[in-house]
Amino acid sequence: MDPAMPTSAFNVILNLARSDQSLSLSDPTTPTSNPVSIKKAYDSVPKELPQKGLGTEKTISWLLENIAQGFAAGQSGPRYFGFVTGGVLPAAQLGDFITTIYDQNVQVHLPEHSLSTLLEARTLEMVLDLLWIDRNAFKGRVITTGATASNILGLACGRDYVIKRLRPDYDVSEDGLIGAPPVKVLAERPHLSILKAAAVVGIGRSNVESINTGGKYTFVEALEEAMIRNSQGGTGMIVSVSFGEVNTGEFTPNLKKIRELCDIYGAWLHIDAAFGAFARVSSSPATRGLADGIELGDSITSDGHKWLNLPYDCGLFFSQNESDLVSVFGPSPRTGGAAYLKTHTDDGDLPSVTSPLYLGIENSRRFRALPMFCALVAMGREGYTEVVDRNIGFAKRIGKWICGQESYELLNGNEEGEVPLNVVLFRGRKEGMDLEKAINERGKIYVTGTKWEGRSAVRLAVSNWKTGLDGNEDFEAVINALESVVM
Ligand SMILES: *Cc1c(COP(=O)(O)O)cnc(C)c1O
Repeated sequence: MDPAMPTSAFNVILNLARSDQSLSLSDPTTPTSNPVSIKKAYDSVPKELPQKGLGTEKTISWLLENIAQGFAAGQSGPRYFGFVTGGVLPAAQLGDFITTIYDQNVQVHLPEHSLSTLLEARTLEMVLDLLWIDRNAFKGRVITTGATASNILGLACGRDYVIKRLRPDYDVSEDGLIGAPPVKVLAERPHLSILKAAAVVGIGRSNVESINTGGKYTFVEALEEAMIRNSQGGTGMIVSVSFGEVNTGEFTPNLKKIRELCDIYGAWLHIDAAFGAFARVSSSPATRGLADGIELGDSITSDGHKWLNLPYDCGLFFSQNESDLVSVFGPSPRTGGAAYLKTHTDDGDLPSVTSPLYLGIENSRRFRALPMFCALVAMGREGYTEVVDRNIGFAKRIGKWICGQESYELLNGNEEGEVPLNVVLFRGRKEGMDLEKAINERGKIYVTGTKWEGRSAVRLAVSNWKTGLDGNEDFEAVINALESVVM
């Protein structure tokens, strides 16, 4: 036993691990709370900071009795199909408890004090292995708070790269955007977080140009046209493509050709693969093929809290060179870093790694690598492949069923009603019905609404490790919910 771990905590956690269950506070098949419970819970929330504290026991027991009923306890459960939510694997949940118990701040590499930075480095290598991405091709690696933060990193790295290429004497991270050449993001069906990222890194939302794939042009043709036009105006370009578009689960095709264009025009290629990267974990060659070419990106965004089934919050970012990140997030090349943050370089028997502090936004942060490490070791490649295959199989079954219904229209399937990945996009044929609301009000499953080709639609995303584990019950719950709202 590790002497640093208090015996009691160690036993509590080990007992949980023996049951191979994660803790959930109520029936995980009820996806959300309800307005009555939420109102009741809200009414019991103190209106102001208490003068005298309640103490730990009273606070927690009161919270569990009065407040917890207001949370969406089934959001980490098998029938919550909103957004792309994922769940929490038991090993990840226990790893997260341990993370809090040790409360490591992991941003400075101090190998004589803690293993944390080395464990994080090893964990990120394992993620690359899981995704069949060559460890040596992506040396810039960092754990973020989510795909949004990763997209900010991607656009920041791209911004520095394209400006440096146009003006080798100019360092935008040192001197700012005023005086720098303009930068545009040419994007294929960007997630809204790409717009947020453009705002944060000073490119500006209006400089995100959606490349139209409709009509007679392919994406590559439309992209080439946009690149010729923008390069004539001396604009630096970041190309942002979608691996797993959020409404459809579709992938930007033909990465090889896109890479060639980026090389010709000096553009940075960013791949938003928040959940789509996990197509590569599938046992099906056709599914894996959807995410071909991921290694051609200069930077890759992915998520830990979605299909990797880690607790919120956890995102992943990879770039080909560590220097891409250090140029933005590292110390100033003119003035150097803070002396007190000087990290260890000569580690004797241990490898040296760059302090995560120089690779991402935060100077202090949670030891997010630990739940990730626990999940990867507990599941192994086979465990994750089983989850990804089961989730995709579930979505495909729902898609096929919807395709055969008079009352429904499947929007992201082929002629046989096969959806590309783990998202099912559909609408009801009945006019004037708020389908999302009707489904969610019944409280059996949860879906999210979206707009598709100007009209409302519903998306059902399958990414929870529990979905479909109980034989046919989750599938039947979806079918029953969809049948009951159109009856
Ligand atoms: C979910 C998602 C994001 C945003 O990710 P967060 O983890 O919520 O910040 C970005 N891009 C795509 C494609 C996504 O699916």
